[in-house]
Amino acid sequence: MDSRLRRREFFALAAAPLLRGMPTPIIKTVSVIATEPAGVRLVVVKVQTDQDGLYGYGCATFTQRADLVVEAVNRYLAPLVVGRPADAIEDLWQAMYNSSYWRNGPVLNNAISGIDQALWDIKGRQANMPVYQLLGGKCRRAALIYAHASGREIPEALEQARKLMSNGIKAVRLQVGVPGMAAYGAPGGPHNPPQASPQDAVFDPEAYVRRTLELFEAGRKELGPQVELLHDVHERVPPRLAVQFAKDMEQFRLFYLEDALSPENIDYFRQIRANCTTPLAMGELFNNPREWTPLIKDSLIDYIRVHVSQAGGLTPARQIAALAEAFQVRTAWHGPGDVSPIGHCANVTLDIVCPNFGIQEWTMPNDRLLEVFSGYPVMKDGYAYVNEKPGWGIEIDEKAAAKYPFGSFEEGEHKKRNGGWGVVRKPDGTVINQ
Ligand SMILES: [Mg+2]
Repeated sequence: MDSRLRRREFFALAAAPLLRGMPTPIIKTVSVIATEPAGVRLVVVKVQTDQDGLYGYGCATFTQRADLVVEAVNRYLAPLVVGRPADAIEDLWQAMYNSSYWRNGPVLNNAISGIDQALWDIKGRQANMPVYQLLGGKCRRAALIYAHASGREIPEALEQARKLMSNGIKAVRLQVGVPGMAAYGAPGGPHNPPQASPQDAVFDPEAYVRRTLELFEAGRKELGPQVELLHDVHERVPPRLAVQFAKDMEQFRLFYLEDALSPENIDYFRQIRANCTTPLAMGELFNNPREWTPLIKDSLIDYIRVHVSQAGGLTPARQIAALAEAFQVRTAWHGPGDVSPIGHCANVTLDIVCPNFGIQEWTMPNDRLLEVFSGYPVMKDGYAYVNEKPGWGIEIDEKAAAKYPFGSFEEGEHKKRNGGWGVVRKPDGTVINQ
């Protein structure tokens, strides 16, 4: 053989490992960071590999049952994944999902998400790229966000909306309290709980609907036609009333009406669609990507609402987004305070890589949250920007996280319920959805 050719072969072989990146990282340890810096229990999974300094973080936050997710990770998923390659993300997702035999529940899906998102973080750090680059790169510079405005009274809610708008925010979710009741997403006034269960909240769907229509009447008039307005029903009204309410809200030209129905009543979306053009968002309580299929393929909703960790992480969330894209349905990933900063980074990453992005729910971090997590997406002029560091670009100060154990900033019944939510009843005592 020609010696020049042999030399070339030698150099090609020597260069191959470099061209292919680092050797496959193997999962060495899996641990959980449980912290509550902003008064909401957050669960984050840390996956460490056998390569020095190569690790990743994933959001596994199911705040209402946080302790159970911690156990699911430590006692079941960690023993399954330790020793396996960290770079086969889809394969590990399928392995974790199927390994319990009985699958597809919120505790297990959140636990899987913690590891799934940590593996994406690891892959990004290994490639020295933000995760959005691994997904094909940006198709928009930033994500349009909406923020929450609420008040005990209508003028207070509108004042908050004006404040947000003066800070450049272009879309506002409006919620208002209802006298004598515990409303969703707004401060409640003093209310009379059902006598038999004084620790529970009381909610009258009819009174809520009347009050919310008043709020939007005043809101559209006072805030003007340009601002995008949203509202979350939080599945608190019966289906027949939801159909009427969506129809009555049509005149206010919402960006969307969220969770008008509960997952148990999704057949009623067909009736809402037949009666009005109010845009509809649905799905934060679904467990599995397939649960969106009938709503998406029959064009019964306009936006998918997904708590990404609840669906099992970034891996299944991408699949739901792709399914939605084929049917002109857009994304609206769940982004309140019960998503960890890792989860917010995953949301904004999806926002900037999915062609069918719709809007991003936004939560302003408080100082304690930023003390624990660095790299939170930045919001400017009503848009969220992902950070440009490798992986999710988030680092966690574990000592600071330990300063705020579960239960910090919780009081009374909420603390007694271990951070869980309570019970909501109609005035006659009937339990209804949260
Ligand atoms: Mg919601």
